[in-house]
Amino acid sequence: MNIHEYQGKEVLKQYGVAVPNGKVAFSVDEAVQAAEQLGTPVVVVKAQIHAGGRGKAGGVKVAKSLDEVRAYASEILGKVLVTHQTGPEGKEVKRLLIEQGCDIKKEYYIGIVVDRATGRVVLMGSEEGGMDIEEVAENTPEKIIKVVVDPAVGLQVFQARKLAYDINIPGELVNKAVKFMLALYQAFVDKDCSIAEINPLVVTGDGQVMALDAKLNFDSNALYRHKDILEYRDLDEEDEKEIEASKYDLSYIALDGNIGCMVNGAGLAMSTMDIIKYYGGEPANFLDVGGGATTEKVTEAFKIILSDPNVKGIFVNIFGGIMRCDVIANGVVEAAKQVGLSRPLVVRLEGTNVEIGKRILNESGLNIVAADSMADGAQKIVALVQ
Ligand code: ADP
Ligand code: MG
Repeated sequence: MNIHEYQGKEVLKQYGVAVPNGKVAFSVDEAVQAAEQLGTPVVVVKAQIHAGGRGKAGGVKVAKSLDEVRAYASEILGKVLVTHQTGPEGKEVKRLLIEQGCDIKKEYYIGIVVDRATGRVVLMGSEEGGMDIEEVAENTPEKIIKVVVDPAVGLQVFQARKLAYDINIPGELVNKAVKFMLALYQAFVDKDCSIAEINPLVVTGDGQVMALDAKLNFDSNALYRHKDILEYRDLDEEDEKEIEASKYDLSYIALDGNIGCMVNGAGLAMSTMDIIKYYGGEPANFLDVGGGATTEKVTEAFKIILSDPNVKGIFVNIFGGIMRCDVIANGVVEAAKQVGLSRPLVVRLEGTNVEIGKRILNESGLNIVAADSMADGAQKIVALVQ
C-alpha cells in the first residue's frame, strides 16, 4: 500500500527523522491558513498524489507571499498531473502539502528497499539526488552506493557512516546523516515497509539534514498489524476495480490490455499472461481467484473483469486442484446472468469435477469456446479479440 508524502513525513517524524514543518490542505482557503500558521517567509505548495515526478510536472511551487500561496493552491488543486509515474491519464490533485521552504545547499538521495536478489534490506545513497535519480541509475549506476543489511543485527552505525562519507555528506554533518539513516531504517523495519525513499535528502544552509520528500510503501500482507498505517489509505488513489476485488479477497491487478483473465493460483495466472502475450495478445488484468473460492467470489471476480470497458474477451484458465471446476462454472454462469455476456469467452478447465464443470457451461446456453490446453485457449482468445 502506498501513502501520501505528508503522511510519510508524519510516520518518519515519530522516529526522529528530520522533516520540514508542514500541513495538509484540502482547499485553497485551508492552504492559505496553513501558510499563515507556518509563518515562514517562503512556503512550498506541493501536490499530494501517489506518484513522484511532481516537481517536473508543475506540482511543486515555491511561494513567497500568501497571495502566491493562494494562486498556486488554486492552480494545483483539481489539476490532473501527468508525471512519468502516473501514466498518460495522470492523477487529479485533491490534497496539498503546505510546507516550510528550505534553504537547500545540496540534494542527495537515500532509499531503502527489500532486495530480492540478496533477500535482504538494502540501503542506497547517492550524491546525485533530486529529480533525476532514475537517469542516474540508468546512465551512471556507479554513483548509487549500496549497503546490504544483515537482518540479525540491523543497520550498523559504521555502515551508515561509510555511506555518508561515500556520498560526500560534508564532514561536520555526517553524524546527523547517520542519525537520519538509522531512524529511517528503524521506521522501515517497524512499519513493514517495502520501500522508503527520500529524494531529496537535503543539507540546508543552516546545517540541517532533512527529508524534503518521502515515499513510503508498505507490505500489504503486514497491514493487519499496522492499524495506524491502514488509516492513511486513500481510496481516491486506487483503481476502483482493485478496491472492489480487495473486498472479496481476490488478488486482482488492472493492466492495459484487452483480454480479461480469470485464473486460480498466482503461478498459473502469471503463465497465462505470458502465453497470451506469446500469441500476440495483451492481458487486461492479473487475477488469482485463490484456492478455496466460492461461487459468490467467482461471480464477483467475473463481474469485475466485465466492468472493464477495455475487455474485449475473457480467458478462463482453471486448474481444479483445491478449487473445483463446477464452482468456477457456476460462478461464470451466475455472473453472465447478472451482467449479461456479449464478449467472447474461452474456457479451459482441468482437474477436480471437470466433467461437471463442462456440463454446467454447455447447458448454460452461453456462447463459450472450449479449449483443451493453455496454448489452445490463448490462441483462441487472441484470435477472437482481434
Ligand atoms: P517530486 O519528487 O514528486 O518531484 P519533491 O518533493 O521531491 O517532489 O519536490 C521536487 C523538488 O522541489 C525537490 O527536489 C526540491 O528541490 C524542491 N522542494 C520540495 N520541497 C521543498 C521545500 N520544502 N523547500 C524547498 N524546496 C523544496
Ligand atoms: Mg522527490
